Amino acid sequence: MPIYEYMCPEGHVVNEYRTVDERERVPECYCGHLTKKVILSPPRVFSDYEGYESPVSGKWIAGRRARVEDLKQTGCRPYEAGERQEFERRRVAVDRELDKTVDEVVERSMESLTQHDEGSDARQQLMRG
Ligand SMILES: [Zn+2]
Repeated sequence: MPIYEYMCPEGHVVNEYRTVDERERVPECYCGHLTKKVILSPPRVFSDYEGYESPVSGKWIAGRRARVEDLKQTGCRPYEAGERQEFERRRVAVDRELDKTVDEVVERSMESLTQHDEGSDARQQLMRG
């Protein structure tokens, strides 16, 4: 399940695990405000097709359908033989970066939650996943 990021009007960032269908269900911030969904880092999605950032549009491509749409909208074609190896090499590097980013975001969020007493509800929610 991907982790989505939400931000309240005070600028607090709340991370929640959500199914894709439930991603618009915004959590309440530990300060009491309602949050809005934001994209600070691309959500990690485990699907039939490993997600990637479109090199042309910069959008996060999370599945086969999104890929077909992106190719159509950007007027691109899939990689051909030989290009594929280069793509794979970069994808592995991007994946490593992403894993690091997600770890950092989660860690930062846990740290900020432990600094607020009001954070206990949100923290428990985060733990339950
Ligand atoms: Zn807040």
